[in-house]
Amino acid sequence: MSATTTVIKASCLCGKANFTVTLPSTSLPLRSWICHCDTCRKNQGSIALFHTEIPALDSASVSPLSVYKTSENSNRYFCPVCGCHPCEWDEGVRKWYLSTGVIQREDFPLIEFTEHIFIEDTKDGGLSNWLPSVNGKLLKRWSHHARKSQELPLSWASSELQSTPSDKLRARCSCGGVDFYISRPLFDSPEFRKDFPDLKIPSETVPRSKEHWFIAKDKQKWIAGFCTCTSCRLANGMDVMSWTYVPTSLITPADGSSHRLEFGTLKRYQSSDKVIRRFCGKCGATVFYQVDHRPNLVDVAVGLLESTSGAKAEDWLEWRKDDFSFRDEARDTKLVEELLHGYQAQQQR
Ligand SMILES: [Zn+2]
Ligand SMILES: [Zn+2]
Ligand SMILES: [Zn+2]
Repeated sequence: MSATTTVIKASCLCGKANFTVTLPSTSLPLRSWICHCDTCRKNQGSIALFHTEIPALDSASVSPLSVYKTSENSNRYFCPVCGCHPCEWDEGVRKWYLSTGVIQREDFPLIEFTEHIFIEDTKDGGLSNWLPSVNGKLLKRWSHHARKSQELPLSWASSELQSTPSDKLRARCSCGGVDFYISRPLFDSPEFRKDFPDLKIPSETVPRSKEHWFIAKDKQKWIAGFCTCTSCRLANGMDVMSWTYVPTSLITPADGSSHRLEFGTLKRYQSSDKVIRRFCGKCGATVFYQVDHRPNLVDVAVGLLESTSGAKAEDWLEWRKDDFSFRDEARDTKLVEELLHGYQAQQQR
């Protein structure tokens, strides 16, 4: 790196996506934003998309990747091995966007988040209401496109917000190749009668026997939370991955498949000797995380849920108030700390 240029390195979890971007140092910090649109949530699986604009990307670096078009101009690249979404090419404005989660940890300020966009798609404000500012700077809050739509107040929620009581919640990726339902907790099912002696709270390594930590205080809901571990970040591409935790027996594939974790366009990636991650092989959406010390309880990507109450799916989910899983591994510690702060403040209301 010379004084006039800066080199950004980025990669996915398996390493197939591997970028080196050289930028004029005068272009730093890179303008970055958080998109809450339905397409961005369902195409990658976390509750919001974290993107930054880069001046150029060498086409050779994206050639090992798969691409899925979410619109005429929007080309979403994803890793065909691990499912990470490292970048997008917008043919309309001829610009490259890099997911901030794949950028290697840097000590100098590369990125500046300036705004939330497409908040209106969330109906309930989604993650935007938990993250009013980054680095002490208030983020702009746009209903749709940046600078071309209405600015929304903090804690905005749609006046048409509705919660339709239901006993099944649909989850789908953006191409529709992964389509399934989750059910409400069922206390007479074998999973609930079992002690789960090997269950672990996501951020803990010591088992807590007999605790059904994944059931919310409201017994009709599942617990949801954020994970900031390196592995989730690089398998998904976003700085924070949002999961809910559901027993496998309460997942029902829409196509009637008898295997509850292998159906439709799902692909599997063994990210360690204990962990299997599943994503859509057609659009790349992150779908499931399965770890062998709790084989009957899987993490389900919150971004795929189609709750009538909005992106946070609060008619089905109770968000963990205490902490994020593996916060010590966060890449952008300021972003994650401010999100946690806003999140705890909202939950305590
Ligand atoms: Zn990969
Ligand atoms: Zn979007
Ligand atoms: Zn898909």
